Amino acid sequence: MEQDLSNKPHVVIIGAGFGGLSTAKILANKGVRVSVIDKHNHHLFQPLLYQVATAALTAAEIASPIRHILRKAKNIAVYMNKIVEVDTNKKIVRSRSGREFKYDYLVLATGARHSYFGKDEWEEVAPGLKSIEDAREIRKRVLTAFEKAEMEDDLEKRAALLNFVVVGAGPTGVELAGAIAELANYTLTEDFEHIKPSDARIILVDAGPRILPSFDEKLCAKAIDHLTTLGVDIHVNSMVKDITEDHVTFGEQTVATRTVIWAAGVQASSAGKWIGAETDRTGRVPVDAHLCVQDHPEIYAIGDTASHTPEGAERPLPGIAPVAKQMGEFVGKDILKRIDERKRSTFKYKDLGTMATIGRNRAIADLRGFKLSGFTGWILWCIAHVYFLVGFRNRLVVCLQWFFSYMTYHRGVRLIIGESGIVPDDKDAEDVKKEAKKDEKAA
Ligand SMILES: Cc1cc2nc3c(=O)[nH]c(=O)nc-3n(C[C@H](O)[C@H](O)[C@H](O)COP(=O)(O)OP(=O)(O)OC[C@H]3O[C@@H](n4cnc5c(N)ncnc54)[C@H](O)[C@@H]3O)c2cc1C
Repeated sequence: MEQDLSNKPHVVIIGAGFGGLSTAKILANKGVRVSVIDKHNHHLFQPLLYQVATAALTAAEIASPIRHILRKAKNIAVYMNKIVEVDTNKKIVRSRSGREFKYDYLVLATGARHSYFGKDEWEEVAPGLKSIEDAREIRKRVLTAFEKAEMEDDLEKRAALLNFVVVGAGPTGVELAGAIAELANYTLTEDFEHIKPSDARIILVDAGPRILPSFDEKLCAKAIDHLTTLGVDIHVNSMVKDITEDHVTFGEQTVATRTVIWAAGVQASSAGKWIGAETDRTGRVPVDAHLCVQDHPEIYAIGDTASHTPEGAERPLPGIAPVAKQMGEFVGKDILKRIDERKRSTFKYKDLGTMATIGRNRAIADLRGFKLSGFTGWILWCIAHVYFLVGFRNRLVVCLQWFFSYMTYHRGVRLIIGESGIVPDDKDAEDVKKEAKKDEKAA
């Protein structure tokens, strides 16, 4: 018999990323009514997005339908909708399509997007990596550059096509640079007649004094070593001043390039604006020890959209998956405690460590002081990422793909999808579609 939930407290969770999904899982089949709202129909495992962008994995292998993940929770309804407004007085959330959700408890878990530090015009020429669409766009740009270079007789233009610039040397930038270098140096080596893909120059640029600032200096040195072995050109203390369709200027130099990837800045979602909160510099909402928003004990903010500084710490917790996940779990439990009028506790983050991979079989890992690098680091990195990946099928397929590409250097997803700007086929396809429509109408 179906449980009557109509008089149970209603928890609205906006965002089914690492944070929101963790809250939903804790509340599954408990004495609350839950609505999970996300603008996408899938939960995305962002730490492996760079592998989609560099043709190692397909999008379906790192994403799972939210509805499927939560299918066994009879008290949870999933809505694919984009939230644009919160009325904190009436306790109502509004979506772009005009639908309203009344809440007793609200969980803001809408993550972050990339920030161009006020230079939003760079986004067009230097896409960032946040969604499946972004990853496909980057994959298309990287693969298309090799295709165009193959057809280019002018050596200067060919060299420009084979220059790939990654801006931002945090884990995402380092992973992207390493993967593009591997693609050029190993995967594509036998595929072209007129160019040597290994002539490609992969340039990693950062305004700061060193790469991977969240890792200690010894591990950072190992990462530099791994990247240099792969042929990545590292430029630190090099602020990017200009990016256009055909060049990028950083520090004192200008490099001709057609492919720039942005991995430099992060800006929290607009959730802070919706509730009129005073946010920090990157738009994050400050939260208290229960992860509640000031003056709104019924509203929680978690993950990349929240700013929480643990007692005694100098800085807020970083925007990484384990923080979002642990915050999400805490909030789910806290809501149940409040409903049952049990004693509440405060949020304590358990730091499990940080990792970054470089190329096909090297990584660095700092597990609460226990440091690993090279191949052993990479094995640990693989285990951790497969463990956190949602869904048995995805785990299995990803393991098989990694094993296959480890043995063969092959990257199976080298597909250019959508308009590449090279061949008139895209236009032809449009013409065919138009003709077909005309025929349909005539019929
Ligand atoms: C390329 C990349 C690589 C990364 N690598 C690592 C790594 O190796 N290790 C690590 O720990 N962390 C990594 N991170 C960071 C990590 O992914 C984030 O910290 C984590 O995803 C934050 O979780 P979250 O729940 O706050 O937000 P997210 O996981 O981003 O989820 C936010 C959700 O909210 C939804 N949403 C947003 N706006 C709306 C709206 N208006 N209405 C409805 N739904 C909305 C989105 O669709 C999304 O599903 C990486 C991030 C990126 C982008």
